[in-house]
Amino acid sequence: MTLYREDAVVLRSFKLAEADRIIVLYGRTRGKIRAVAKGIRRTKSKFGARLEPATVVHAQFYEGRNLDIVTQVETTQIHSTFRSDLARYSRAAILLEAVDMASEEAEPSPALYKLLVGALGELDRAGNPLIVPAFVSKLLKLEGVQPMLEHCVHCSSTTGLVAIDLSRGGILCDNCRSGGFMSEEARVAMQHVFDGHVRHVLDTTPEHVADELESLATVMLDQHLERRLRSPKVLHQHLQSE
Ligand SMILES: [Zn+2]
Repeated sequence: MTLYREDAVVLRSFKLAEADRIIVLYGRTRGKIRAVAKGIRRTKSKFGARLEPATVVHAQFYEGRNLDIVTQVETTQIHSTFRSDLARYSRAAILLEAVDMASEEAEPSPALYKLLVGALGELDRAGNPLIVPAFVSKLLKLEGVQPMLEHCVHCSSTTGLVAIDLSRGGILCDNCRSGGFMSEEARVAMQHVFDGHVRHVLDTTPEHVADELESLATVMLDQHLERRLRSPKVLHQHLQSE
């Protein structure tokens, strides 16, 4: 059997057999990993709470034919605010689910790992409302998706822009609208976020616009992940791995 060590973020876990769980992680060099944590549901498990979602760990695994086995875990980052602050926990859950859905086993992306660890750390430290939008814009960039935010993707109108629909490639005017509603203020701020000027947006954006940006970002994420799931290649891999 082959042993390997990896820095990884715990994405989620689910029950297996009586005392075990399957842990889904995102590793720095291996990408998505599914591994069994044996005995983790016993009170005296050596893993304790170290494999809770959003924890960053340095772990050792045995490579199995189907599932790997976690043998040792050291915690690198716990993100303690997530346990007491429901808003931060919900945001963390969005990031974890996005990485889970946007990644396949044996398709590592060190950039995605870095993005996730950075966003979780920022959320734990500051919990600012633009973490989800900033994360979504970077995730879409990594996936090669560049939504059009300057004019209507259907008729090229630069006025009356009121909606965003990633399945059509970006924003839409009142005549061509589909997807989620977006205010003009949010559209302009979103452009800055996509250009990487998150700090500027934080300093200049009223709270209600920041809230709109956040819910808009989750709509964009859903639209993107839904499209991704519908693509035949990805769907096939998902079915194989279940
Ligand atoms: Zn239009």
